[in-house]
Formats: sequence, structure tokens, C-alpha cells
Amino acid sequence: MIYRKLTFIVVLWAFLISCSGPGHIAKHDVEQIEQVSLDDSLVFERFSKALQIPTISYSNTARIDSTQFHSFIAFTKEYFPEVHDALDFTLVNDFGMLFRWKSNQADERKPVLFIGHYDVVPVDSSNIGMWTHPPFSGHDDGEFIWGRGAMDDKGGLMSMLEGIDYLLKNNFNPQRDLWFAFGQDEEVGGINGAAKMGEYLKEQGIEFEFVLDEGMPIVMELHEELPTPVAFIGVTERGNMYLELSVDFEGGHSSLAANETAISILANAITKLSENPVPGRLEGLSLVTLEALAVDSAPLIQRVALSNLWLFRGMVERRMRDMPGADALLGTTAAPTMFFGGVNPNVLPSRATAVINYRIHPRENIDDILEYVRKTIDDPRIEMDLYPGARNPAPISSTESNAYRTIEHTILEVFPDVLTAPSIFLAGTDSRHYRDISDNIYRFRPIRAYADDASRVHGVDERINKNNLLEMVRFQIQLIQNVSSTTDFSEVLN
Ligand SMILES: [Zn+2]
Repeated sequence: MIYRKLTFIVVLWAFLISCSGPGHIAKHDVEQIEQVSLDDSLVFERFSKALQIPTISYSNTARIDSTQFHSFIAFTKEYFPEVHDALDFTLVNDFGMLFRWKSNQADERKPVLFIGHYDVVPVDSSNIGMWTHPPFSGHDDGEFIWGRGAMDDKGGLMSMLEGIDYLLKNNFNPQRDLWFAFGQDEEVGGINGAAKMGEYLKEQGIEFEFVLDEGMPIVMELHEELPTPVAFIGVTERGNMYLELSVDFEGGHSSLAANETAISILANAITKLSENPVPGRLEGLSLVTLEALAVDSAPLIQRVALSNLWLFRGMVERRMRDMPGADALLGTTAAPTMFFGGVNPNVLPSRATAVINYRIHPRENIDDILEYVRKTIDDPRIEMDLYPGARNPAPISSTESNAYRTIEHTILEVFPDVLTAPSIFLAGTDSRHYRDISDNIYRFRPIRAYADDASRVHGVDERINKNNLLEMVRFQIQLIQNVSSTTDFSEVLN
């Protein structure tokens, strides 16, 4: 009986919500802004030029062609002379491009830092022939501009330069200091770029109200049942670690085979880990993310389920586990990526090693995962070693702050067709090098990402839609103005 009653309440509630029409949550308070008119062809020309400079990062620093990085810096000076004139420009550690837009009417607010990077990942020589247009051509086919770095992250960086340029030409001066930091080695960890710029700023005692980095895009096709694009704002990022498991076990001739060898012991451990993944749960930030999606255009059944998790939690979590990407919201994910063992078909292996890549959910840390692995394997013969560079998840930045609300408000002004939702950023960014100088770090780029775009970033046929590029510039212009203004956006949006 109780269940019948509950079902009735749920259905009634869902019906009421479904009658409330589109746009009832996030968009209602935001007035659409008039689109600024840009010099479109100049934006496209400069963007194409930026893509033609192969600023490729390699982990093996001997392979880096530093002349290309000098060329990129020279390119910004040649094509954005007003920006270089009006803003203080410092090269930190030779290649870290740091701009300060000094306010001549600064109030007491802390400055804001926008970051990006101008290095790109290498093009895989085995599939270079698969590119529709050569990766460093910056080819403009009328609809898209093609090239490595278009989405990651020259699109973001160039839209910032374009935004500053536009505002300077319109005699804008911010009411607080704005900083822009463009790293040269984000793709290989940011040690020489962002890390050095972060140290430099810290030495000067500068703290920022917030930092905005590359990050989550506007997802155009999140789910077939949710036609509304979603602008995800990354408020944290997952940790990352490569865990090497190894076994040393007596070898010998395989004719003397025992029940166990180094390989079987290790395989057994990997099997245990695969069968017992780190438990995940829909709670905290992940729940907030889903709740933000449970509005207007979401299908009835999803809204009902998400809004009544006490009843439907199991179903929702199961569905999420089956969706790549969504599983990462629930918990730490693991992928065995390497396995070595044995030297000869008739020799018992004396040693076997494997590597598992853990992407750590913000509720856990490196030690938690190590402890979990140790307990799950429950075999003292297996040794565990971390690869250098393991990192914990980023702290979660507030979704209630004026900073978050300013970003959200700007998104809704420039992209009236989208929903916004805070989320965990699945990868890592340069922003971790600025954690000491700001409590609020957000990750967002207004790139409209369709399902097939995921493979373009770091893959073949990276490109950007030209209209989207203009939107990105408009976003940056509006964001700078909003950040400069003294409006409290946490009051505006509720
Ligand atoms: Zn990037």
C-alpha cells in the first residue's frame, strides 16, 4: 500500500514538473546580451596562423624545437600589438607567457587569473595520412579551421587574446587587475611553464579570487534523451596514478611447472582488482551534477529517478556504470595498461610486472587507493610501486561563490541554449600549479563538443567550428566585463 501511495506522489510530482515548461531553472534570470560584432575574418586569419606554428611538447625534452615556441611568442607580438602594448608582459622561465592587465581604477578586490597553454601534443606519424587537412595547415574550409591544437588549447588561448584586443580597441579598462598565463608545456605536466609562473606569482604575494583554466566543454550530445547542450564547469579534477605491481618468484624450466608462476600470481591479483572495483557512489558533487541535468528538457523518467534517489539509486548507479565517462562521476576508475612477464616459452618466469592506471575520484586520495589495492589483492608476494608524478585529486571549488556564478551567468548570457552543471573534470590541467594562490579554480572552455569530437582532441582531425570560435571570443569578452564589474552574480542567479 505504501508503495502505491509513493508511486502516486512521484508521478504527480513528475507531472507538475513536466508542466513547468522549458528553462525553468537556470535560465530564467539571465537576460540575453546583444552580440558584439567582431572582425570575423581577422579572428579566423589569426587563429589559422596560430595553428600553423607547431609548438609540440615532448616528454623527451631533447625533441622539443624551441624555435617554434619563440615563433609563437613573436606571432602574438606581431598580430596583437595593442595587447602587448597595453598589458605588462613577462616571460617566465623563457617561455611562460604572463600578461597583467593593470587596472587604472582598481578597487580592493583580488585579481583574476585566466590560464591556457600554447603547446600541443605530437601528431601520431602512423595516422598523419588520415587527417582531412594537414595538422599544421590551419586550413579554413569555410566551416571549420583545422589543425592540432584547435580545441586543445589554442582555441581557448586565442579567444582570450582576441577578447582583450577587442576590449582594448573599445577603450575598456577593467576595474580590477586581470592576469593571463599561457604555459608552454601543459601536455607534459606544466613543470617548466605553469609551475614556474605559479611560483613567480606566489613570490610576489599575489592571490587570485579565482582561476579559470581550460577544461570542460559544452557537451552537445550528452545523451539521446537529453537534447539540451550542457555546459559543464569543472570544479575539481581527478587524481592520477600509475601503480606498478610486481612479483618475484622462483623460476626454472617449465617442465618442472608448479601450480603458480610469477605470471599466474600477478594475473590473479589483476583479476581480483577487476572483479572488485573501487566502490563508487552517487553523492556529493556527482549528485549535484546529475541534479542540474534533471531539469526541463530531461525525460520524465530520468527526472523522477534523479529526484527520488532514495528509491531509484540502484537503477541510476547501474546505468551510470555502463556509460563511459559517467562511471567516473561515481568513483575511482582503474585500467590495467601494461603487463610483462617471461623471457622464453620453456622457462618459468622469475618476475612479472603490470601497471594499472588509477584515476582518483575527489572523495579518495592516493593512500586510500593503495590501501584498497593492498587489501583487495591480499597477497604479500606482490609489491606495489608508484610511478613518479602521482597526484591527488584537486580540492573542490565552491559552486556558491561569486566566481562560479559569474562564469555560469556569462555562459547563459552568451549561450542561451545551454544548461549549466558543475562537474568533475576527468583529465588534469595546468591549474594544479596555481592551487597555492587561489581557493577557487574552475575549468571550462565554451567549445561545442559533439560526440565525434572526443577523438579529435589529441587525435586525428582536430578542428574548430568557425561560428563556435566567434562564440568563444564573445564569451571571453563578456566574461572579462562581468569579472570586472562589481555585480554580485551569486545574488543574480539562484
Ligand atoms: Zn590542454
